[in-house]
Amino acid sequence: MPIINLFDSIKSFLKTPQCADCRVTLDEGVAKFCVECRMILRQRTWQAISEVSTEVLVYAACDFNRVFKKQLYGYKYYGQSHGQWLSDLLIDYCRQDFSTVPAEQTLLVMIPPHNDAQDQERLMRLASALANAKGWLLSSSVLNWQVECKPQHTILGRKERFENLSGAFSVADINFSSIKRIIILDDLITTGATMVSAAEAIKAQVCRQGRSTIQVEGLALARVPFMPIMGGTSTVVRSDKVLLPV
Ligand SMILES: [Zn+2]
Repeated sequence: MPIINLFDSIKSFLKTPQCADCRVTLDEGVAKFCVECRMILRQRTWQAISEVSTEVLVYAACDFNRVFKKQLYGYKYYGQSHGQWLSDLLIDYCRQDFSTVPAEQTLLVMIPPHNDAQDQERLMRLASALANAKGWLLSSSVLNWQVECKPQHTILGRKERFENLSGAFSVADINFSSIKRIIILDDLITTGATMVSAAEAIKAQVCRQGRSTIQVEGLALARVPFMPIMGGTSTVVRSDKVLLPV
């Protein structure tokens, strides 16, 4: 093969769109994933996860599976540029949200990461894109850790996870008088203990301000399955046996 043709072949190979997960060649250059990976990544319906809490409505955009994990971990731990895709995922999921609360009275807040400014910044970028798309207000400083808690992924029981996070958050002294709905954003949700603890802290603060009409909801990028195992002890079931920060 003449060398010029070889270069052309390499160039066209490099330009060939590939699935962002399995690297299979894509026919069209528009989609990020192949049909199979898109099937795995299927968006969840806007339906509160009833096992988490009957008092706090908690939603997750998709299930935590191998395709999602690769994208999230690439973004969080390897500095890969999947932030756009992750924020698009959230924005697209929230198209199913038809709340009657006006956008300008909806506040998006974040679960603060443990001592990790970079983590905070990454979640903030996603939150910011979502808040912009929905016209919601955004604050990164509403919730703060107020007690030392064990990392949730080191605790396997559901009850113990809720106990570990009871009273974990303090809420900044913010006047919520113009707010009717607060959505707490986190990347992953397993038992929902973090979300519920954060929601309770916000509700307590709102109560102290003499308000009782604020809706507090939780929103996660993905839901990690949490299932009881035989013998009555609960544990986290993950297909790859890798424990994750939750
Ligand atoms: Zn694929």
